[in-house]
Amino acid sequence: MLNTHKSQELFNKAKEIIPGGVNSPVRAFKAVGGNPLFIKSAKGAYLYDEDGNQYIELINSWGPMILGHAHPVIEEAIRNAIPNSLSYGAPTRIEVEMAEQIIGMVKSIEKVRMVNSGTEACMAAIRVARGYTGKSKIIKFEGCYHGHGDSFLIAAGSGAVTMGTPDSAGVTQGVANDTLTAKYNNLAEVEQLLESNKGQVAAIIVEPVVGNMGCVLPAKGFLEGLRSLCDQHQTLLILDEVMTGFRLSKGGAQELLNIQPDLTTLGKIIGGGMPVGAYGGRKEIMDCVAPVGKVYQAGTLSGNPIAMSAGLAMLRYLEQHPEVYTNTVHITKQLVNGMRENMKKLGLNYTITQLGSMFSLFFTEAAVTDFDSAKTSNTELFGKYFRAMLERGVYLAPSQYESLFVSNALSEADIKHYIQANYEALKEVAGK
Ligand SMILES: *Cc1c(COP(=O)(O)O)cnc(C)c1O
Repeated sequence: MLNTHKSQELFNKAKEIIPGGVNSPVRAFKAVGGNPLFIKSAKGAYLYDEDGNQYIELINSWGPMILGHAHPVIEEAIRNAIPNSLSYGAPTRIEVEMAEQIIGMVKSIEKVRMVNSGTEACMAAIRVARGYTGKSKIIKFEGCYHGHGDSFLIAAGSGAVTMGTPDSAGVTQGVANDTLTAKYNNLAEVEQLLESNKGQVAAIIVEPVVGNMGCVLPAKGFLEGLRSLCDQHQTLLILDEVMTGFRLSKGGAQELLNIQPDLTTLGKIIGGGMPVGAYGGRKEIMDCVAPVGKVYQAGTLSGNPIAMSAGLAMLRYLEQHPEVYTNTVHITKQLVNGMRENMKKLGLNYTITQLGSMFSLFFTEAAVTDFDSAKTSNTELFGKYFRAMLERGVYLAPSQYESLFVSNALSEADIKHYIQANYEALKEVAGK
């Protein structure tokens, strides 16, 4: 058994003074049982908790640490920026360089605005879409996450043509009425929603490759279909690339899958580990944003020089080192192949999804193509598996409905360790 005494102590204290003891819900391990670990430090492919246990990292801060933790290039950029003061609330050279860098990497972006999180980016993007089109409704997909803005916290499971109901207390029915939901990979539902809300839909927002119901891939033609439906209905297509941006390729999922959105939202990797988000797209749409246009959006710390220095160092590194992409894909394929062999030996047939350096192991034998099929997973078994992996020094996302993110820092020995741990953990929790 792991000794997690100090984490335990901190969690008990934290619960008294922070809701649930955590500053973001999924960190609380509620979906897997047990108590969260308190992390003290991380380097390369490893996390260290307060009790000194070492874990191989498969979340990487939910994506940002694609180069592994405490990468010297990012650290140096931050160190160099610190003596110039931490914030001015006035324009800086590095914001211009950052905008140029993003526009150079993400082909559909002609103008970009920096914000402080993926949530902010998505909230702003739909406001801009509404301001630009003069329409009020949006379509999102069940199981896709676009941050905690009111408009996005709308129940999955509502029928395609019915109005949404709030998924969170505190979200009003009025807001929910403007969010329509469809099943991922189901173009017919989207078409029906657009027909029955003719002239009212400002935007469709979608994760081009989903990370937030576990890793779920777009079916052939799905994203292309959304693009042409948007064109037919004068509706904007917003690709939420907060997870996939700079991860699936240097130009994101849109480059890899060749889809041209009107607006793109970014986060996670874009800050190199600092709290950063961005939204951008076609010039004429982005020129709706204040102070040129009538859509208000602002931020005291937006474009913060320390955050920009980390993010810019990250993006430049990725642009100059395309081998990061080939290598992380190579590592991911080894992990996935190892798991497939393990399952074969154990007579198991669970579903694995993977694209680039994102993957999920679903505890179901069904093909996972949308939220309904993802939910056929045995989450109790996943919880056991999660804890069995933790015992073996592997830190996974603490929920079945999250993608894993592979970093460039994993060594051959780490890959072997992971595959062996997976074998033992599967045998322990599900072996026949
Ligand atoms: C993480 C995430 C967000 C929200 O970003 P935060 O920085 O957590 O606010 C939005 N969309 C997607 C696809 C995400 O994965």
